[in-house]
Amino acid sequence: MTGAPHSHPIKAAVFDIDGTLALLDKETGTYAALPGAAQALDDCRARGLPAVAYTNGTFFPPAHYYPVLAAAGLELAPGHVLTPAAVAAQALARDGYRRIMVLGAEGTTVPLEEAGIEVIAAARGAPPVDAVLLGWCKDFNAEQVESVVQAVWDGARPYAGSVAPYFAGAGGKRLLGISGAIAAALTNATGVPVTVFGKPETAGLEIVSALTGARPQEMAIIGDDPKLEIRMGRRAGAYCIGVTTGIVDAAGFGAQPEAERAHQVLPSLHGLLSQPVFARD
Ligand SMILES: [Mg+2]
Repeated sequence: MTGAPHSHPIKAAVFDIDGTLALLDKETGTYAALPGAAQALDDCRARGLPAVAYTNGTFFPPAHYYPVLAAAGLELAPGHVLTPAAVAAQALARDGYRRIMVLGAEGTTVPLEEAGIEVIAAARGAPPVDAVLLGWCKDFNAEQVESVVQAVWDGARPYAGSVAPYFAGAGGKRLLGISGAIAAALTNATGVPVTVFGKPETAGLEIVSALTGARPQEMAIIGDDPKLEIRMGRRAGAYCIGVTTGIVDAAGFGAQPEAERAHQVLPSLHGLLSQPVFARD
């Protein structure tokens, strides 16, 4: 696939992290930049094009990523790293939520607190809350699940960072998506569907719009996962660029339904800003 015409100038670039900008060494927790990634971010900075890194990871708050990416030569401006929990926090704060029950770890609670939202732990006898937010956690117990169910029975709106059934662990092993499992239990008990913030939902791009001033049609979305970044970008009307440095090859991108397919597939981020879609008039 080559660059299809796009009728809007690109005013922001949204990069996935894992498999797109960098690869994680799970032993050390350090990142190695993928070919062309550091240059692509430098090129964005040089021409004043805002660059956002949006990962679907929910383990860590955004603050975790700046130093580990910088150590790999990948510099992101403050506020320009997003996670589903950070998207949730900003969207829920914008929509007037003030007190939220969380079943999740630091990756979920820190962004809410930073957005000025009072975080209530999921526990019996908790005070009334506006919403519940489910995030990744290592351990949870029946009392916590009962507490979020009770909050929703009492009228709180249920949200989750991600409801992915599983995610990729070391050596291709599947790791259970805990927040998805809890969301299923919550809906099973309450009949209320859980609203999701992570990719491929488009809520993150509203936050990017607020951050950069670019409308979704004026964004380039760059990612290695056709079912996450590319699907999100196509739903929002963005220009979508697949890279084959992560989970699928070019055939994998091509196998998606036309309406969800990348506009362009590149072997790496080498020369990204030289692609025609980034040409200025
Ligand atoms: Mg990825």
